[in-house]
Amino acid sequence: MAPTHVLRCCQRGLAWIPVIFIALVVCWSYYAYVVELCLFTIPSTIEKVIYLTVFHVSFIMFVWSYWKTIFTRPATPSKEFCLPKSEKEQYEKEQHPETQQEILKRVATSLPLYTRTGAGAIRYCDRCQVIKPDRCHHCSACDMCVLKMDHHCPWVNNCVGFSNYKFFILFLTYSLVYCLFIAASVLQYFIKFWTLCRRKSAENCPKNDLPESHAKFHVLFLFFVAAMFCISILSLFTYHLWLVGKNRSTIEAFRAPVFRNGPDKNGFSLGFSKNIAQVFGDQKKYWLLPVFTSQGDGFSFPTRLVTIDPEQPTECLQPAGLDKGAVEGSAEQTTPLSESQNHLLGNAFYIEEDHKETDVLKSDESEAITISIESES
Ligand SMILES: [Zn+2]
Ligand SMILES: [Zn+2]
Repeated sequence: MAPTHVLRCCQRGLAWIPVIFIALVVCWSYYAYVVELCLFTIPSTIEKVIYLTVFHVSFIMFVWSYWKTIFTRPATPSKEFCLPKSEKEQYEKEQHPETQQEILKRVATSLPLYTRTGAGAIRYCDRCQVIKPDRCHHCSACDMCVLKMDHHCPWVNNCVGFSNYKFFILFLTYSLVYCLFIAASVLQYFIKFWTLCRRKSAENCPKNDLPESHAKFHVLFLFFVAAMFCISILSLFTYHLWLVGKNRSTIEAFRAPVFRNGPDKNGFSLGFSKNIAQVFGDQKKYWLLPVFTSQGDGFSFPTRLVTIDPEQPTECLQPAGLDKGAVEGSAEQTTPLSESQNHLLGNAFYIEEDHKETDVLKSDESEAITISIESES
């Protein structure tokens, strides 16, 4: 077996560690809440029933959406975005990037493409050998092009993109609900155990209605862990709600998509309610269920093209599915994204290896999975 293949297998195995960690924490929280708190600690039957009912509803929704986020395969570009055989051979033989672009432009005339690289070129993935549809990026961790890629999340060991973005938002929502409910319902028992503990240490312990037991350890930790997760999820949750309202992916939030008139961070925004419907669908009854209801096919998106004059912006709605083909007008450069700009990348995100997107820049291919973001210049 080749060493690179072994390395790849090891990386794939290690990538499951964060998911296993979360699964173990969730299993322990279930045991601690149901057995140690509800069965052993809470004296009132009515309280037990209410807590167990609400707990199980939030637990099921949380596990369901987490499962769907992990195991929904990222959507990839269809065959239409591959070069036909003759063009592909021509492209591979060709040494000059300009001529390669001519080949790509010819093929792209029949495709619904609005976005380009910063230099105005057709976005092409050398690794997957496909023309990238709008909002599609190559993920170095998954080693594939992912439609409407948002980010690669190690906590779900999957790419978050067109096929599972709704599930990811619901996963954040229900994990927040789950942690908030645990923290709120455990609080009074946490205080009781905590004060019991402190009084004992002062050797002045009056009779407390909670017995000193091993449940104390679980209840105290349950509150700490739930509160800690609440705080960390809350910022991510509000950030993604803001992104949904603006119809931007995480990548687009840090590097505006480039249209024929230049970069436009609001290029895909259709207004608040339509932006919500793009991810959650038209029917509100399905919004809170982790079933796929996102609009579109993931290949083309309704866009809002803005004219280049910043003094008098004239906006028009451009229906999806029409190709304008012109790329020469784009002379503006996108702002390069550095890792330090993205506070989220530090611990929870891999972003795509996008350097192969540019026809002019030909960087060395690296097999290593790294956080690598470069400007499309
Ligand atoms: Zn690719
Ligand atoms: Zn990925």
